[in-house]
Amino acid sequence: MPPDSTAPNSKTSGPRASLLVVGGGIAGASVCFFAARRGWAVTLIDADQGRASEVPTALLNPVRGQSGHTDARALAGLHLGWALIRELGGRGHRVAHGQTGVLRPLANDAARAKFETNLPPGLAHQWLAPADSPFNLAPGWPHLLFLPQGGWVAAGALVAALVTVSGAEVRRARAASWDARSATLEDGEVLHADAVVWCGGSVGASWGGASWGGGSGSDPGGFSHRAGSLLLLEGAAAPLPVSAGVYLAPATFSNGQRGGVLGATFEAPTSGYQAGGPPLKSLHWLFSRAAALSADLSPAVTGIWTGSRLSGERTGPQPGGWWALAGLGSKGFLLGPLLARELVGQLGGQLGKRLDSQMDSAPADLPAEHALSSLDG
Ligand SMILES: Cc1cc2nc3c(=O)[nH]c(=O)nc-3n(C[C@H](O)[C@H](O)[C@H](O)COP(=O)(O)OP(=O)(O)OC[C@H]3O[C@@H](n4cnc5c(N)ncnc54)[C@H](O)[C@@H]3O)c2cc1C
Repeated sequence: MPPDSTAPNSKTSGPRASLLVVGGGIAGASVCFFAARRGWAVTLIDADQGRASEVPTALLNPVRGQSGHTDARALAGLHLGWALIRELGGRGHRVAHGQTGVLRPLANDAARAKFETNLPPGLAHQWLAPADSPFNLAPGWPHLLFLPQGGWVAAGALVAALVTVSGAEVRRARAASWDARSATLEDGEVLHADAVVWCGGSVGASWGGASWGGGSGSDPGGFSHRAGSLLLLEGAAAPLPVSAGVYLAPATFSNGQRGGVLGATFEAPTSGYQAGGPPLKSLHWLFSRAAALSADLSPAVTGIWTGSRLSGERTGPQPGGWWALAGLGSKGFLLGPLLARELVGQLGGQLGKRLDSQMDSAPADLPAEHALSSLDG
C-alpha cells in the first residue's frame, strides 16, 4: 500500500523507533496507526488469511451478554472508535458507518430489572415501548433498550484506512516465528526492529510461531476460538443494529453496495481456528432466532461470510520479550483501537529508554506525537 502523504509520521529528527506488527486485523491496524502517530517506522506483516476483522458489519455495541454488565472500557472505546472514523474521514478515507445507536430487545420485566441494575451510570440509554420500535419487531419483546452512543461500521474499510494512513510498509507474508526484536518470514527472510507486536487473531493463534507463557496442549496461548456467520442481505432488515442473541444491522459492502446483515457468533467454542462455512443446523438456529426478533425477513440473501474470533485477552509484553494484542473476543472493534493506543503508549516508554541507552549520551529524541486531539488519551 503506498504511504499516505498526510500520515502523521513524517517527523524524523533523532533516532526513529521501528516496529514490526504481525497481523493486520483491527488490532494490528490500530497498533500501526498509533505507532505512526508517535513517528515510529512501522512494518506490518500480514498473511491476509482468516481475518475476523473482515466481518462485513461490526457493531460498536457497549452492552453485550444477557445481564447489562458492561466492560469498564466500553465508553472510552466507543468515543475513540467514532473519533478515529472522523479523523480518517478528515484525511480523505471515508469509512461507511452509522452512529445510529443500537437497540437491545428484552424478553421480560426480570431482564429489564437486571439491565437497569447493571448498566453503568455514564452510559446514555432510553427505554422504548414495542410500539416505538424503529423496525418491524416480532411479538414477545416488551422492552427495548436504546443505546444512542452505539452503531455500526464497515469493518474491513476501517482496517484498510488505518493501515493506509499509518504509512506502514506492508509485507503480505506469514511470519513463521518472531522474538523481541525480529520476525522470520516463511521464506527465511528475517526482519529486524526495536520491538515486535503480535496481533495474529484466531487464525494466527492456531498457526503458532509464538512461545506463550501460559496455556497448554494444542493451544498453548490458552485462548478459545469461536466461529460465526453473517448472512449478507440485499437490504437492511432494520435501520440500526438490533442485537438479541443474533444481530440485524445495516451494511455497506466492499463493492460500495448498501444492504444489511443477519448473523451471530454461534458455533461452540473450539481450541483452534476452524475454517469453512456453518453446518445446516446452525443456519436453522440463525433463522429461528431472526424470526423471533423481526417480523420482516423479506430482504433477499446474497451471500454468507464466516469468521472465527479469539477470546482470552492478551495485551502487553510477553515472556519472549515481544508484545501482544490479541484475544479481543466479540469486542475487537469496541476495544481494539483503545487497547492499541494504550499498548503503544507503554511500548513508547520502553522504546524511549532503549533508544536512550543506544545514544549513550543524549536523551531519547523520539519524534513528538502529532498535535493532541480527541484521539489521544
Ligand atoms: C461472526 C462474527 C461477528 C463479529 N461481530 C463483531 C461486532 O459486531 N463487533 C466487534 O467489535 N467485534 C465483532 N467480532 C469480533 C471481531 O471480528 C474480532 O474481535 C476482531 O476482528 C479481531 O481482530 P484481530 O486483529 O485480533 O484479528 P484478525 O482480524 O483475525 O486479524 C488477524 C490477522 O493476522 C494475520 N496473521 C495471523 N498470524 C500471522 C502470522 N504469523 N504472520 C502474518 N500474518 C498473520 C491473519 O492472516 C489476519 O489477517 C465478530 C467476529 C465474528 C467471527
